Amino acid sequence: MLPATPLPHRRAGGVSWPVVSLGLWQNFGATTPFADQRTLVLHAVERGVVHLDLANNYGPPPFAAEESVGRLLARDLRGHREELLITTKAGYRAWPGPYGEHGSAKYLRASLDESLRRLGVDCVDVFYSHRFDPATPLEETLRALDRAVRSGKARHTGISSYSADRTVEALAVARSLGLRLAVHQPAYSMLNRWVEQPGADGRSLLDVAGDAAMAVVAFSPLAQGMLSTRYLHGVPADSRAARGGPLRPEWLTDEALDHVRALDAIARAGGRTLPQLALAWVLRDPRVTSVLVGARTTAQLDENLAAVALPPLTDDELAEIEPHAVD
Ligand code: NDP
Repeated sequence: MLPATPLPHRRAGGVSWPVVSLGLWQNFGATTPFADQRTLVLHAVERGVVHLDLANNYGPPPFAAEESVGRLLARDLRGHREELLITTKAGYRAWPGPYGEHGSAKYLRASLDESLRRLGVDCVDVFYSHRFDPATPLEETLRALDRAVRSGKARHTGISSYSADRTVEALAVARSLGLRLAVHQPAYSMLNRWVEQPGADGRSLLDVAGDAAMAVVAFSPLAQGMLSTRYLHGVPADSRAARGGPLRPEWLTDEALDHVRALDAIARAGGRTLPQLALAWVLRDPRVTSVLVGARTTAQLDENLAAVALPPLTDDELAEIEPHAVD
């Protein structure tokens, strides 16, 4: 199963991460035949994308993506579990009622147990708090993560989408518990640069994570597909924006598409495609450990993986990109 030529890895937070990871948020549920899901995951693993990123609510609907990976681990990937990095999360709505989302110990504990059951594994490599919960004391959420490690159900823990300030707080609480937060998973792309904005102590999330030697696994590095040529001439029928998913058609403004067009021209002048430029741009910062792509087809994934073999962006290219890499 292991590829002849593995992808490069970056090590951070005590974990070795392939520079490209596969996310199973959108294309692993009811509307995608299992055969297509299987083809994509097996192709990814064969190409060295050994990190599969899940959450309780991925599919959609919730649970579907974990169930699919569970089926694959029981069949095609049987015996290969330890060649893979399997991560999951809890924080968004998974079941009805007050205990079916957010950051309480009750929810996190029940959710992890259910994730392990669906996946058919004893332990995940990373268990994340998927989002900060203002209604639950941070210490309760982090104690639940700590318990996941101490009980052997997770090897490492992480947080996702916590602001720079909340991450500083979470690191302090984790330290007091003797817990290592291995990884932060934030959105980061040429169209979403919040991780670069300074927090209360002047440091950005990238600074905070870098100072704490946490891994940073960047999600939606292609801005859900906006950083491609797919939307330059309308909304294709098979696209995420057309499927009523989380990419809202109203985000495809003329202004945004003008930037996409300019970035595409820069990409082509440098011998890349726009998705390859977008991935190289996120990976230009050594504090970013991996880009978490949500490829829907093997062709998209192969195009994205080819980004890794291309030379790094030049200073001139970075300067040309800057006015078009805007939130
Ligand atoms: P991307 O930014 O990679 O967007 C994926 C979409 O982009 C695909 O569905 C496809 O759109 C399009 N695409 C991908 N590759 C290409 C290509 N080469 N050419 C043209 N279009 C392409 O990432 P996602 O938004 O899917 O997020 C990735 C992962 O990040 C998720 O699966 C999940 O694991 C994680 N995530 C985490 C969140 C969190 O809160 N922690 C939130 C969101 C994501 P189309 O389907 O239209 O073809």
